[in-house]
Amino acid sequence: MTSSSPSITVPAGHGKAVRLAAGQAVRVVNTHGTQVVDCWAWNAYDLSEYMCMETTRVWNQRLNPLTGDSFVTNQRHPILTVVEDTTPGVHDTFMAACDRKRYELLGVRGYHRNCCDNMFEGMFELGVTPPRANLASFNIFMNIRVQPDGITLHTLPTVTKPGEYITLRAEMDCFVAFSACPQDIVKIQGQGDNTPKPVDIVVIDGFHSDLPGTQTWVPED
Ligand SMILES: [Zn+2]
Repeated sequence: MTSSSPSITVPAGHGKAVRLAAGQAVRVVNTHGTQVVDCWAWNAYDLSEYMCMETTRVWNQRLNPLTGDSFVTNQRHPILTVVEDTTPGVHDTFMAACDRKRYELLGVRGYHRNCCDNMFEGMFELGVTPPRANLASFNIFMNIRVQPDGITLHTLPTVTKPGEYITLRAEMDCFVAFSACPQDIVKIQGQGDNTPKPVDIVVIDGFHSDLPGTQTWVPED
Protein backbone atom coordinates (compact mmCIF):
# COMPACT_ATOMS: atom_id res chain seq x y z
CA MET A 1 0.00 0.00 0.00
CA THR A 2 1.27 3.46 -0.82
CA SER A 3 1.50 6.00 1.97
CA SER A 4 3.32 9.30 2.17
CA SER A 5 5.09 10.91 5.08
CA PRO A 6 4.35 14.57 5.72
CA SER A 7 6.39 16.73 3.39
CA ILE A 8 9.70 18.08 4.62
CA THR A 9 10.55 21.61 3.57
CA VAL A 10 14.12 22.22 2.48
CA PRO A 11 14.48 25.90 3.38
CA ALA A 12 15.86 28.19 0.70
CA GLY A 13 19.62 27.82 0.54
CA HIS A 14 19.70 24.92 3.03
CA GLY A 15 20.04 21.13 3.04
CA LYS A 16 18.01 18.14 4.25
CA ALA A 17 18.53 14.39 4.00
CA VAL A 18 16.38 11.28 4.35
CA ARG A 19 17.03 7.58 4.84
CA LEU A 20 15.14 5.34 2.40
CA ALA A 21 14.62 1.60 2.53
CA ALA A 22 14.77 -0.18 -0.83
CA GLY A 23 11.36 0.27 -2.48
CA GLN A 24 10.59 3.59 -0.79
CA ALA A 25 10.65 6.68 -2.95
CA VAL A 26 11.28 10.36 -2.43
CA ARG A 27 9.45 13.06 -4.36
CA VAL A 28 11.15 16.42 -4.83
CA VAL A 29 8.57 19.14 -5.43
CA ASN A 30 9.68 22.40 -7.01
CA THR A 31 7.20 24.35 -4.91
CA HIS A 32 7.90 27.71 -6.53
CA GLY A 33 9.05 26.23 -9.83
CA THR A 34 12.25 28.23 -9.84
CA GLN A 35 14.64 26.26 -7.69
CA VAL A 36 17.59 24.02 -8.55
CA VAL A 37 18.13 21.13 -6.11
CA ASP A 38 21.42 19.27 -5.78
CA CYS A 39 21.09 15.60 -4.79
CA TRP A 40 23.47 12.94 -3.46
CA ALA A 41 22.93 9.36 -2.31
CA TRP A 42 24.92 6.71 -0.42
CA ASN A 43 24.59 3.02 0.40
CA ALA A 44 23.17 3.16 3.95
CA TYR A 45 25.64 0.52 5.16
CA ASP A 46 28.77 1.72 3.35
CA LEU A 47 29.13 5.45 2.84
CA SER A 48 32.15 4.90 0.60
CA GLU A 49 29.64 3.66 -2.01
CA TYR A 50 27.88 6.70 -3.41
CA MET A 51 25.66 7.70 -6.34
CA CYS A 52 28.06 8.47 -9.16
CA MET A 53 27.33 10.67 -12.17
CA GLU A 54 30.21 9.26 -14.26
CA THR A 55 29.17 5.61 -13.98
CA THR A 56 25.52 6.60 -14.42
CA ARG A 57 26.24 8.27 -17.78
CA VAL A 58 27.97 5.06 -18.94
CA TRP A 59 25.04 2.96 -17.65
CA ASN A 60 22.31 4.94 -19.43
CA GLN A 61 24.32 6.42 -22.33
CA ARG A 62 22.68 9.76 -21.70
CA LEU A 63 23.80 13.15 -20.51
CA ASN A 64 20.81 13.35 -18.19
CA PRO A 65 18.33 10.79 -16.88
CA LEU A 66 14.88 10.22 -18.34
CA THR A 67 11.95 8.69 -16.49
CA GLY A 68 12.79 5.01 -16.01
CA ASP A 69 16.54 5.57 -15.85
CA SER A 70 18.51 4.35 -12.86
CA PHE A 71 21.40 6.05 -11.15
CA VAL A 72 24.26 3.75 -10.18
CA THR A 73 26.99 3.98 -7.58
CA ASN A 74 30.76 4.11 -7.90
CA GLN A 75 30.48 0.31 -7.59
CA ARG A 76 27.93 0.28 -10.48
CA HIS A 77 24.99 -0.89 -8.41
CA PRO A 78 21.60 0.77 -9.03
CA ILE A 79 20.77 3.09 -6.14
CA LEU A 80 17.93 5.39 -7.34
CA THR A 81 15.55 5.21 -10.30
CA VAL A 82 13.55 8.09 -11.76
CA VAL A 83 9.98 6.75 -11.56
CA GLU A 84 8.06 10.00 -12.14
CA ASP A 85 8.94 13.34 -13.65
CA THR A 86 6.25 15.93 -14.28
CA THR A 87 8.80 18.56 -15.34
CA PRO A 88 9.99 19.00 -18.94
CA GLY A 89 12.79 16.58 -17.96
CA VAL A 90 15.58 19.11 -17.90
CA HIS A 91 18.14 18.16 -15.23
CA ASP A 92 21.91 18.10 -15.06
CA THR A 93 24.65 15.60 -14.19
CA PHE A 94 27.60 17.68 -15.34
CA MET A 95 27.98 20.73 -13.15
CA ALA A 96 29.87 20.50 -9.89
CA ALA A 97 27.91 21.33 -6.77
CA CYS A 98 28.68 24.83 -5.52
CA ASP A 99 31.08 25.12 -2.61
CA ARG A 100 32.67 27.91 -0.63
CA LYS A 101 35.51 28.31 -3.14
CA ARG A 102 33.05 28.68 -6.02
CA TYR A 103 31.55 31.77 -4.39
CA GLU A 104 35.01 33.15 -3.57
CA LEU A 105 35.84 32.81 -7.30
CA LEU A 106 32.57 34.59 -8.11
CA GLY A 107 33.75 37.54 -6.03
CA VAL A 108 31.97 36.89 -2.74
CA ARG A 109 33.85 38.11 0.31
CA GLY A 110 33.16 36.14 3.47
CA TYR A 111 30.96 33.10 3.80
CA HIS A 112 28.27 32.24 1.26
CA ARG A 113 25.98 29.28 1.87
CA ASN A 114 26.70 26.48 -0.61
CA CYS A 115 25.49 23.04 -1.69
CA CYS A 116 28.49 21.09 -0.40
CA ASP A 117 28.02 22.45 3.12
CA ASN A 118 24.28 21.87 2.78
CA MET A 119 24.93 18.22 1.97
CA PHE A 120 26.76 17.92 5.29
CA GLU A 121 24.04 19.95 7.03
CA GLY A 122 21.35 17.51 5.88
CA MET A 123 23.33 14.39 6.76
CA PHE A 124 24.52 15.73 10.15
CA GLU A 125 20.87 16.25 11.06
CA LEU A 126 20.44 12.46 10.64
CA GLY A 127 23.54 11.88 12.73
CA VAL A 128 25.52 10.66 9.73
CA THR A 129 28.85 12.02 8.49
CA PRO A 130 29.61 11.50 4.78
CA PRO A 131 33.27 10.63 4.26
CA ARG A 132 33.96 13.60 1.99
CA ALA A 133 32.40 16.38 0.00
CA ASN A 134 31.18 15.14 -3.38
CA LEU A 135 31.14 17.77 -6.09
CA ALA A 136 29.43 15.45 -8.60
CA SER A 137 25.80 15.87 -7.59
CA PHE A 138 22.64 15.13 -9.56
CA ASN A 139 21.38 18.64 -10.18
CA ILE A 140 17.61 18.31 -10.25
CA PHE A 141 15.76 20.95 -12.31
CA MET A 142 19.08 22.49 -13.48
CA ASN A 143 19.13 23.65 -17.09
CA ILE A 144 22.51 23.10 -18.76
CA ARG A 145 22.24 22.85 -22.54
CA VAL A 146 24.78 21.34 -24.88
CA GLN A 147 25.25 23.75 -27.76
CA PRO A 148 25.03 22.76 -31.45
CA ASP A 149 28.83 22.37 -31.61
CA GLY A 150 28.36 19.33 -29.34
CA ILE A 151 31.01 20.59 -26.92
CA THR A 152 30.05 23.90 -25.39
CA LEU A 153 27.68 24.09 -22.42
CA HIS A 154 25.26 26.94 -21.76
CA THR A 155 23.99 27.63 -18.24
CA LEU A 156 20.34 28.73 -18.20
CA PRO A 157 17.56 29.20 -15.64
CA THR A 158 15.43 26.20 -14.75
CA VAL A 159 12.32 25.66 -16.89
CA THR A 160 10.25 23.97 -14.19
CA LYS A 161 6.80 25.30 -13.22
CA PRO A 162 5.46 25.63 -9.65
CA GLY A 163 4.47 22.29 -8.16
CA GLU A 164 6.20 20.12 -10.75
CA TYR A 165 8.16 17.22 -9.29
CA ILE A 166 10.46 14.28 -9.82
CA THR A 167 10.22 11.02 -7.85
CA LEU A 168 13.21 8.80 -7.15
CA ARG A 169 12.80 5.19 -5.99
CA ALA A 170 15.46 3.62 -3.79
CA GLU A 171 16.98 0.46 -5.28
CA MET A 172 18.95 -0.22 -2.07
CA ASP A 173 18.71 1.05 1.49
CA CYS A 174 20.29 4.46 1.19
CA PHE A 175 20.67 7.98 2.44
CA VAL A 176 19.66 10.76 0.06
CA ALA A 177 20.65 14.39 0.65
CA PHE A 178 19.22 17.48 -1.02
CA SER A 179 20.33 21.09 -1.19
CA ALA A 180 18.07 23.93 -2.29
CA CYS A 181 20.99 25.55 -4.09
CA PRO A 182 21.92 28.95 -2.59
CA GLN A 183 23.25 30.17 -5.94
CA ASP A 184 22.19 33.82 -6.38
CA ILE A 185 24.96 35.06 -8.69
CA VAL A 186 24.95 32.70 -11.69
CA LYS A 187 21.41 32.82 -13.12
CA ILE A 188 20.29 29.22 -12.68
CA GLN A 189 17.13 29.77 -10.61
CA GLY A 190 14.19 30.35 -12.95
CA GLN A 191 11.75 33.10 -13.78
CA GLY A 192 13.04 36.38 -12.60
CA ASP A 193 15.16 37.46 -9.73
CA ASN A 194 17.44 34.42 -9.23
CA THR A 195 16.45 34.23 -5.57
CA PRO A 196 16.84 30.82 -3.90
CA LYS A 197 13.50 29.41 -2.75
CA PRO A 198 12.42 26.48 -0.55
CA VAL A 199 11.37 23.13 -2.01
CA ASP A 200 9.49 20.20 -0.50
CA ILE A 201 10.42 16.55 -0.30
CA VAL A 202 8.03 13.70 0.47
CA VAL A 203 8.99 10.13 1.39
CA ILE A 204 6.56 7.58 -0.08
CA ASP A 205 6.27 4.02 1.23
CA GLY A 206 5.58 1.17 -1.17
CA PHE A 207 5.67 3.34 -4.27
CA HIS A 208 4.20 1.36 -7.15
CA SER A 209 5.79 1.69 -10.55
CA ASP A 210 5.95 -0.59 -13.55
CA LEU A 211 9.36 0.86 -14.36
CA PRO A 212 11.94 -1.82 -13.52
CA GLY A 213 14.97 0.48 -13.63
CA THR A 214 17.61 0.26 -16.31
CA GLN A 215 20.18 -2.43 -16.99
CA THR A 216 23.59 -1.28 -18.05
CA TRP A 217 24.11 -0.39 -21.66
CA VAL A 218 26.33 -2.73 -23.69
CA PRO A 219 27.30 -2.28 -27.34
CA GLU A 220 25.13 -4.16 -29.83
CA ASP A 221 28.05 -5.73 -31.68
ZN1 LIG B 1 24.56 24.96 -5.35
